[in-house]
Amino acid sequence: MFPKKTVRDVDVQNRRVLVRVDFNVPLKEGRVADDSRIRASLPTLHYLLEHNAILFLISHLGRPKGQRKPELSLAPVAPVLADLLDTEVTFLPDCIGPVVAEAAARAKPGQVFLLENVRFYPGETKNDPEFARQLAEPAEIFVNDAFGTAHRAHASTVGVAQYLPAVAGFLLEQEVTMLTQALEAPQHPLVALLGGAKISDKIKLVENLSQKAQTLLIGGGMANTFLAAQGHDLGDSLVETEALEEARRLLDLYGAKIRLPVDLLVAEALDPNAATRTQDVSEPVPAGWKAVDIGPKTIEAFGQVIRQAGTVIWNGPMGVFEIDAFARGTFTLAWILADSPAQSIVGGGDTAAAVRLAGVADRMTHVSTGGGATLHLLAGEPLPAVEALDNKE
Ligand code: AMP
Repeated sequence: MFPKKTVRDVDVQNRRVLVRVDFNVPLKEGRVADDSRIRASLPTLHYLLEHNAILFLISHLGRPKGQRKPELSLAPVAPVLADLLDTEVTFLPDCIGPVVAEAAARAKPGQVFLLENVRFYPGETKNDPEFARQLAEPAEIFVNDAFGTAHRAHASTVGVAQYLPAVAGFLLEQEVTMLTQALEAPQHPLVALLGGAKISDKIKLVENLSQKAQTLLIGGGMANTFLAAQGHDLGDSLVETEALEEARRLLDLYGAKIRLPVDLLVAEALDPNAATRTQDVSEPVPAGWKAVDIGPKTIEAFGQVIRQAGTVIWNGPMGVFEIDAFARGTFTLAWILADSPAQSIVGGGDTAAAVRLAGVADRMTHVSTGGGATLHLLAGEPLPAVEALDNKE
Protein backbone atom coordinates (compact mmCIF):
# COMPACT_ATOMS: atom_id res chain seq x y z
CA MET A 1 0.00 0.00 0.00
CA PHE A 2 1.14 3.55 -0.75
CA PRO A 3 1.96 4.91 2.75
CA LYS A 4 1.46 8.59 2.00
CA LYS A 5 -1.63 10.76 1.78
CA THR A 6 -2.86 11.51 -1.71
CA VAL A 7 -5.15 14.16 -3.18
CA ARG A 8 -8.07 11.90 -2.23
CA ASP A 9 -7.19 12.21 1.47
CA VAL A 10 -7.49 16.01 1.77
CA ASP A 11 -10.27 18.49 1.13
CA VAL A 12 -9.17 20.40 -1.95
CA GLN A 13 -12.55 22.00 -2.64
CA ASN A 14 -12.07 25.70 -3.52
CA ARG A 15 -8.53 25.55 -2.06
CA ARG A 16 -5.39 27.15 -3.45
CA VAL A 17 -3.21 24.17 -4.33
CA LEU A 18 0.48 24.31 -5.21
CA VAL A 19 1.10 21.36 -7.55
CA ARG A 20 4.69 20.27 -8.26
CA VAL A 21 4.54 18.79 -11.74
CA ASP A 22 7.28 17.52 -14.03
CA PHE A 23 6.99 19.76 -17.09
CA ASN A 24 10.67 19.34 -17.91
CA VAL A 25 9.75 18.84 -21.56
CA PRO A 26 12.01 18.95 -24.62
CA LEU A 27 11.70 22.27 -26.51
CA LYS A 28 12.44 22.79 -30.18
CA GLU A 29 12.53 26.34 -31.54
CA GLY A 30 10.56 27.57 -28.54
CA ARG A 31 7.83 24.94 -28.86
CA VAL A 32 7.08 21.81 -26.85
CA ALA A 33 8.53 18.92 -28.87
CA ASP A 34 7.02 16.11 -26.78
CA ASP A 35 4.04 16.63 -24.48
CA SER A 36 4.03 13.21 -22.78
CA ARG A 37 5.14 14.61 -19.41
CA ILE A 38 2.37 17.20 -19.55
CA ARG A 39 -0.16 14.47 -20.39
CA ALA A 40 1.08 12.37 -17.46
CA SER A 41 -0.02 15.12 -15.05
CA LEU A 42 -3.58 15.36 -16.41
CA PRO A 43 -5.34 12.84 -14.12
CA THR A 44 -4.27 14.82 -11.03
CA LEU A 45 -5.04 18.20 -12.60
CA HIS A 46 -8.47 17.04 -13.79
CA TYR A 47 -9.28 15.71 -10.32
CA LEU A 48 -8.29 19.01 -8.68
CA LEU A 49 -10.29 21.04 -11.20
CA GLU A 50 -13.33 18.83 -10.75
CA HIS A 51 -13.10 19.85 -7.09
CA ASN A 52 -12.90 23.55 -7.98
CA ALA A 53 -9.38 23.94 -6.65
CA ILE A 54 -7.23 26.90 -7.73
CA LEU A 55 -4.05 25.53 -9.25
CA PHE A 56 -0.55 26.96 -9.02
CA LEU A 57 1.62 24.66 -11.11
CA ILE A 58 5.31 24.63 -10.46
CA SER A 59 8.07 22.83 -12.36
CA HIS A 60 11.66 23.07 -13.44
CA LEU A 61 12.82 23.05 -17.05
CA GLY A 62 16.39 22.19 -17.92
CA ARG A 63 19.31 23.40 -15.87
CA PRO A 64 19.32 27.21 -15.66
CA LYS A 65 21.60 26.95 -12.58
CA GLY A 66 19.84 29.58 -10.51
CA GLN A 67 19.68 32.18 -13.28
CA ARG A 68 16.86 33.60 -15.35
CA LYS A 69 17.40 32.05 -18.79
CA PRO A 70 14.65 33.12 -21.25
CA GLU A 71 15.24 30.03 -23.41
CA LEU A 72 14.30 27.88 -20.41
CA SER A 73 11.06 29.70 -19.64
CA LEU A 74 8.03 27.50 -19.02
CA ALA A 75 5.86 29.94 -21.02
CA PRO A 76 5.64 27.62 -24.10
CA VAL A 77 4.01 24.96 -21.91
CA ALA A 78 0.99 27.14 -21.05
CA PRO A 79 -0.84 26.93 -24.43
CA VAL A 80 -0.15 23.18 -24.70
CA LEU A 81 -1.54 22.58 -21.24
CA ALA A 82 -4.53 24.84 -21.94
CA ASP A 83 -5.35 22.71 -25.00
CA LEU A 84 -4.99 19.44 -23.11
CA LEU A 85 -7.05 20.63 -20.14
CA ASP A 86 -9.48 22.52 -22.35
CA THR A 87 -9.36 25.44 -19.95
CA GLU A 88 -7.54 28.76 -19.69
CA VAL A 89 -4.01 28.61 -18.26
CA THR A 90 -2.44 31.86 -17.06
CA PHE A 91 1.34 31.96 -17.19
CA LEU A 92 2.97 33.96 -14.37
CA PRO A 93 6.48 35.28 -15.10
CA ASP A 94 7.72 34.39 -11.60
CA CYS A 95 7.28 31.56 -9.10
CA ILE A 96 7.41 33.63 -5.88
CA GLY A 97 6.75 37.21 -4.82
CA PRO A 98 4.15 39.87 -5.67
CA VAL A 99 3.20 38.47 -9.11
CA VAL A 100 2.05 35.21 -7.51
CA ALA A 101 0.59 36.88 -4.39
CA GLU A 102 -1.58 39.19 -6.53
CA ALA A 103 -2.81 36.32 -8.70
CA ALA A 104 -3.63 34.33 -5.56
CA ALA A 105 -5.55 37.25 -4.03
CA ARG A 106 -7.79 37.57 -7.11
CA ALA A 107 -8.00 33.90 -8.07
CA LYS A 108 -11.33 32.16 -8.60
CA PRO A 109 -12.07 28.45 -8.13
CA GLY A 110 -11.09 26.43 -11.19
CA GLN A 111 -8.37 28.85 -12.32
CA VAL A 112 -5.01 27.47 -13.44
CA PHE A 113 -1.75 29.38 -13.09
CA LEU A 114 1.53 28.08 -14.48
CA LEU A 115 4.48 29.57 -12.63
CA GLU A 116 7.89 30.35 -14.13
CA ASN A 117 10.78 27.85 -13.96
CA VAL A 118 11.53 27.24 -10.29
CA ARG A 119 15.21 26.66 -11.04
CA PHE A 120 15.62 30.33 -12.01
CA TYR A 121 16.24 30.71 -8.26
CA PRO A 122 19.37 29.17 -6.69
CA GLY A 123 17.30 28.39 -3.55
CA GLU A 124 15.51 25.61 -5.44
CA THR A 125 18.33 23.07 -5.81
CA LYS A 126 19.81 24.15 -2.44
CA ASN A 127 16.48 23.38 -0.79
CA ASP A 128 16.70 26.79 0.89
CA PRO A 129 14.02 26.94 3.63
CA GLU A 130 13.26 30.64 3.06
CA PHE A 131 12.75 30.05 -0.66
CA ALA A 132 10.54 27.05 0.13
CA ARG A 133 8.49 29.24 2.49
CA GLN A 134 8.02 31.81 -0.29
CA LEU A 135 6.91 29.07 -2.70
CA ALA A 136 4.40 27.80 -0.15
CA GLU A 137 3.04 31.26 0.75
CA PRO A 138 0.17 31.64 -1.75
CA ALA A 139 -1.09 28.06 -1.27
CA GLU A 140 -3.07 26.10 1.30
CA ILE A 141 -2.15 22.58 0.16
CA PHE A 142 0.89 21.07 -1.57
CA VAL A 143 0.48 18.26 -4.08
CA ASN A 144 3.55 16.57 -5.48
CA ASP A 145 3.01 14.77 -8.78
CA ALA A 146 6.55 15.13 -10.14
CA PHE A 147 7.83 11.57 -10.03
CA GLY A 148 10.72 12.48 -12.34
CA THR A 149 12.33 14.69 -9.66
CA ALA A 150 11.29 12.69 -6.61
CA HIS A 151 14.89 11.60 -6.01
CA ARG A 152 15.97 15.22 -5.53
CA ALA A 153 15.63 17.04 -2.21
CA HIS A 154 14.84 20.48 -3.61
CA ALA A 155 12.75 23.38 -2.26
CA SER A 156 9.79 22.60 -4.56
CA THR A 157 9.88 18.86 -3.88
CA VAL A 158 10.89 18.57 -0.21
CA GLY A 159 11.20 22.07 1.33
CA VAL A 160 7.59 23.21 0.71
CA ALA A 161 6.24 20.09 2.42
CA GLN A 162 7.38 21.64 5.74
CA TYR A 163 4.97 24.54 5.34
CA LEU A 164 1.79 22.98 3.95
CA PRO A 165 -0.26 19.81 4.21
CA ALA A 166 1.64 17.71 1.64
CA VAL A 167 0.10 14.90 -0.41
CA ALA A 168 0.86 12.89 -3.55
CA GLY A 169 -0.78 13.23 -6.95
CA PHE A 170 -1.94 10.21 -8.92
CA LEU A 171 1.17 9.89 -11.10
CA LEU A 172 3.52 9.85 -8.12
CA GLU A 173 1.27 7.38 -6.31
CA GLN A 174 1.01 5.09 -9.34
CA GLU A 175 4.72 5.11 -10.14
CA VAL A 176 5.79 4.37 -6.58
CA THR A 177 3.10 1.71 -6.15
CA MET A 178 3.88 -0.12 -9.40
CA LEU A 179 7.65 -0.12 -8.94
CA THR A 180 7.52 -1.02 -5.24
CA GLN A 181 5.06 -3.83 -5.90
CA ALA A 182 7.24 -5.28 -8.65
CA LEU A 183 10.17 -5.30 -6.25
CA GLU A 184 8.53 -6.30 -2.99
CA ALA A 185 5.55 -8.44 -4.01
CA PRO A 186 6.20 -9.64 -7.57
CA GLN A 187 4.74 -12.64 -9.29
CA HIS A 188 7.68 -15.04 -9.29
CA PRO A 189 9.97 -15.76 -10.95
CA LEU A 190 11.16 -12.14 -10.93
CA VAL A 191 13.58 -11.44 -13.77
CA ALA A 192 15.64 -8.26 -14.11
CA LEU A 193 16.61 -7.33 -17.65
CA LEU A 194 19.43 -4.80 -17.45
CA GLY A 195 21.39 -2.97 -20.10
CA GLY A 196 22.38 0.52 -21.12
CA ALA A 197 25.75 2.12 -21.31
CA LYS A 198 27.41 1.86 -17.95
CA ILE A 199 27.50 -0.19 -14.80
CA SER A 200 29.14 2.47 -12.62
CA ASP A 201 25.84 4.31 -12.11
CA LYS A 202 23.85 1.08 -11.68
CA ILE A 203 25.85 -0.85 -9.09
CA LYS A 204 23.27 -0.35 -6.33
CA LEU A 205 20.57 -1.33 -8.81
CA VAL A 206 22.36 -4.61 -9.63
CA GLU A 207 22.90 -5.32 -5.92
CA ASN A 208 19.28 -4.67 -4.95
CA LEU A 209 17.86 -6.63 -7.89
CA SER A 210 20.28 -9.50 -7.20
CA GLN A 211 18.68 -9.83 -3.80
CA LYS A 212 15.11 -9.70 -5.06
CA ALA A 213 15.19 -11.40 -8.46
CA GLN A 214 15.70 -15.03 -9.41
CA THR A 215 17.62 -14.14 -12.59
CA LEU A 216 19.42 -11.08 -13.92
CA LEU A 217 19.81 -10.89 -17.68
CA ILE A 218 22.50 -8.35 -18.52
CA GLY A 219 23.17 -7.00 -22.01
CA GLY A 220 24.15 -3.75 -23.67
CA GLY A 221 27.27 -1.78 -22.84
CA MET A 222 26.83 -2.80 -19.23
CA ALA A 223 27.49 -6.44 -20.14
CA ASN A 224 30.78 -5.50 -21.83
CA THR A 225 32.33 -4.52 -18.51
CA PHE A 226 31.20 -7.80 -16.91
CA LEU A 227 32.53 -9.80 -19.87
CA ALA A 228 35.84 -7.92 -19.69
CA ALA A 229 35.96 -8.66 -15.96
CA GLN A 230 35.68 -12.36 -16.87
CA GLY A 231 38.72 -11.99 -19.11
CA HIS A 232 37.06 -11.66 -22.52
CA ASP A 233 38.66 -9.39 -25.10
CA LEU A 234 36.13 -6.73 -26.11
CA GLY A 235 38.24 -4.87 -28.71
CA ASP A 236 37.18 -1.23 -28.86
CA SER A 237 33.80 -1.80 -27.19
CA LEU A 238 32.58 0.50 -24.45
CA VAL A 239 34.17 -1.00 -21.32
CA GLU A 240 34.44 0.85 -18.03
CA THR A 241 37.95 -0.08 -16.94
CA GLU A 242 37.52 1.76 -13.64
CA ALA A 243 34.50 -0.45 -12.83
CA LEU A 244 36.16 -3.82 -13.58
CA GLU A 245 36.96 -4.48 -9.93
CA GLU A 246 33.36 -3.73 -8.97
CA ALA A 247 32.09 -5.98 -11.78
CA ARG A 248 34.27 -8.84 -10.47
CA ARG A 249 32.91 -8.32 -6.96
CA LEU A 250 29.30 -8.42 -8.23
CA LEU A 251 30.03 -11.60 -10.22
CA ASP A 252 31.62 -13.22 -7.15
CA LEU A 253 28.59 -12.39 -5.03
CA TYR A 254 25.74 -12.91 -7.47
CA GLY A 255 27.28 -14.77 -10.42
CA ALA A 256 24.89 -17.69 -9.95
CA LYS A 257 21.94 -15.42 -10.84
CA ILE A 258 23.61 -13.30 -13.51
CA ARG A 259 23.35 -14.30 -17.19
CA LEU A 260 25.61 -12.48 -19.64
CA PRO A 261 25.56 -12.50 -23.46
CA VAL A 262 26.99 -15.61 -25.13
CA ASP A 263 27.29 -13.84 -28.47
CA LEU A 264 27.46 -10.28 -29.73
CA LEU A 265 26.81 -8.19 -32.79
CA VAL A 266 30.03 -6.29 -33.41
CA ALA A 267 30.50 -3.33 -35.77
CA GLU A 268 33.46 -1.54 -37.21
CA ALA A 269 31.98 1.82 -36.16
CA LEU A 270 28.93 3.32 -34.46
CA ASP A 271 27.47 4.03 -37.86
CA PRO A 272 24.39 2.61 -39.61
CA ASN A 273 26.50 1.69 -42.66
CA ALA A 274 29.40 0.11 -40.77
CA ALA A 275 30.44 -3.48 -41.45
CA THR A 276 29.01 -5.87 -38.82
CA ARG A 277 29.25 -9.50 -37.83
CA THR A 278 28.03 -11.84 -35.13
CA GLN A 279 30.51 -13.65 -32.91
CA ASP A 280 30.65 -15.67 -29.71
CA VAL A 281 31.99 -13.91 -26.63
CA SER A 282 34.78 -16.50 -26.43
CA GLU A 283 36.26 -15.06 -29.66
CA PRO A 284 38.19 -11.82 -29.20
CA VAL A 285 36.48 -8.74 -30.66
CA PRO A 286 38.90 -7.45 -33.33
CA ALA A 287 40.83 -4.28 -32.55
CA GLY A 288 38.84 -1.25 -33.71
CA TRP A 289 35.51 -3.15 -33.59
CA LYS A 290 32.80 -2.64 -30.97
CA ALA A 291 30.00 -4.70 -29.47
CA VAL A 292 26.79 -2.86 -30.42
CA ASP A 293 24.05 -5.42 -29.67
CA ILE A 294 23.50 -8.85 -28.19
CA GLY A 295 23.71 -11.72 -30.69
CA PRO A 296 20.95 -14.13 -31.85
CA LYS A 297 21.87 -16.95 -29.40
CA THR A 298 21.66 -14.46 -26.54
CA ILE A 299 18.33 -13.10 -27.80
CA GLU A 300 17.01 -16.67 -27.85
CA ALA A 301 18.38 -17.51 -24.39
CA PHE A 302 17.17 -14.28 -22.75
CA GLY A 303 13.83 -14.65 -24.54
CA GLN A 304 13.34 -18.12 -23.00
CA VAL A 305 13.85 -16.72 -19.50
CA ILE A 306 11.45 -13.84 -20.19
CA ARG A 307 8.76 -16.21 -21.51
CA GLN A 308 8.86 -18.10 -18.21
CA ALA A 309 8.97 -15.06 -15.92
CA GLY A 310 6.17 -13.95 -13.61
CA THR A 311 7.50 -10.39 -13.50
CA VAL A 312 10.15 -8.65 -15.59
CA ILE A 313 11.75 -5.39 -14.51
CA TRP A 314 13.56 -3.87 -17.45
CA ASN A 315 16.09 -1.05 -17.31
CA GLY A 316 18.53 -0.29 -20.10
CA PRO A 317 18.60 -1.24 -23.80
CA MET A 318 20.49 -4.32 -25.07
CA GLY A 319 22.47 -2.33 -27.60
CA VAL A 320 22.80 0.96 -29.42
CA PHE A 321 19.10 0.80 -30.36
CA GLU A 322 19.07 4.38 -31.66
CA ILE A 323 20.69 2.93 -34.79
CA ASP A 324 18.23 0.56 -36.52
CA ALA A 325 20.89 -1.95 -37.49
CA PHE A 326 21.86 -2.36 -33.82
CA ALA A 327 18.32 -2.45 -32.37
CA ARG A 328 17.42 -6.09 -32.98
CA GLY A 329 18.26 -7.38 -29.49
CA THR A 330 16.38 -4.57 -27.75
CA PHE A 331 13.34 -4.73 -30.03
CA THR A 332 13.06 -8.53 -30.14
CA LEU A 333 13.14 -8.75 -26.35
CA ALA A 334 10.55 -5.95 -26.17
CA TRP A 335 8.26 -7.97 -28.47
CA ILE A 336 8.81 -11.18 -26.50
CA LEU A 337 8.06 -9.34 -23.27
CA ALA A 338 4.91 -7.80 -24.76
CA ASP A 339 3.71 -11.28 -25.84
CA SER A 340 4.58 -12.96 -22.55
CA PRO A 341 2.09 -13.27 -19.68
CA ALA A 342 4.63 -11.70 -17.29
CA GLN A 343 4.01 -8.44 -15.47
CA SER A 344 6.26 -6.05 -17.37
CA ILE A 345 7.73 -3.03 -15.64
CA VAL A 346 9.82 -0.80 -17.88
CA GLY A 347 11.85 1.99 -16.33
CA GLY A 348 14.34 4.62 -17.38
CA GLY A 349 14.08 7.20 -20.15
CA ASP A 350 15.98 5.23 -22.80
CA THR A 351 14.20 1.96 -22.15
CA ALA A 352 10.81 3.68 -22.32
CA ALA A 353 11.86 5.25 -25.63
CA ALA A 354 12.98 1.82 -26.88
CA VAL A 355 9.66 0.09 -26.13
CA ARG A 356 7.85 2.99 -27.78
CA LEU A 357 10.04 2.65 -30.88
CA ALA A 358 9.41 -1.10 -30.84
CA GLY A 359 5.68 -0.25 -30.89
CA VAL A 360 4.78 -2.14 -27.73
CA ALA A 361 4.71 0.51 -24.96
CA ASP A 362 0.96 0.11 -24.51
CA ARG A 363 1.34 -3.65 -24.05
CA MET A 364 3.56 -3.28 -20.99
CA THR A 365 2.07 -3.41 -17.48
CA HIS A 366 3.82 -0.17 -16.57
CA VAL A 367 6.19 2.15 -18.39
CA SER A 368 7.76 4.47 -15.86
CA THR A 369 8.03 8.19 -16.68
CA GLY A 370 11.10 8.60 -14.47
CA GLY A 371 14.79 8.23 -15.20
CA GLY A 372 16.87 8.89 -12.10
CA ALA A 373 13.89 8.49 -9.78
CA THR A 374 13.10 5.05 -11.24
CA LEU A 375 16.71 3.93 -10.81
CA HIS A 376 16.72 5.16 -7.20
CA LEU A 377 13.55 3.27 -6.37
CA LEU A 378 14.68 0.07 -8.08
CA ALA A 379 17.99 0.36 -6.24
CA GLY A 380 16.01 0.28 -3.00
CA GLU A 381 16.84 3.88 -2.11
CA PRO A 382 14.16 6.07 -0.56
CA LEU A 383 12.85 9.03 -2.58
CA PRO A 384 13.21 12.21 -0.49
CA ALA A 385 10.21 13.89 -2.12
CA VAL A 386 7.99 10.93 -1.21
CA GLU A 387 9.38 10.72 2.33
CA ALA A 388 8.52 14.41 2.80
CA LEU A 389 4.79 13.88 2.21
CA ASP A 390 2.27 13.41 5.02
CA ASN A 391 1.78 9.84 6.19
CA LYS A 392 -1.58 8.12 5.90
CA GLU A 393 -3.15 7.89 9.32
P1 AMP B 1 21.55 4.09 -19.95
O1 AMP B 1 21.16 5.54 -19.89
O2 AMP B 1 22.67 3.73 -19.05
O3 AMP B 1 20.36 3.17 -19.85
O4 AMP B 1 22.17 3.89 -21.40
C1 AMP B 1 21.41 3.96 -22.57
C2 AMP B 1 22.36 4.05 -23.71
O5 AMP B 1 23.20 2.94 -23.73
C3 AMP B 1 21.69 4.09 -25.06
O6 AMP B 1 21.84 5.37 -25.61
C4 AMP B 1 22.42 3.04 -25.87
O7 AMP B 1 22.80 3.48 -27.15
C5 AMP B 1 23.66 2.78 -25.05
N1 AMP B 1 24.21 1.45 -25.25
C6 AMP B 1 23.59 0.27 -25.11
N2 AMP B 1 24.41 -0.74 -25.46
C7 AMP B 1 25.58 -0.19 -25.83
C8 AMP B 1 26.82 -0.72 -26.31
N3 AMP B 1 27.00 -2.04 -26.48
N4 AMP B 1 27.80 0.16 -26.60
C9 AMP B 1 27.62 1.48 -26.46
N5 AMP B 1 26.47 2.04 -26.00
C10 AMP B 1 25.46 1.21 -25.71
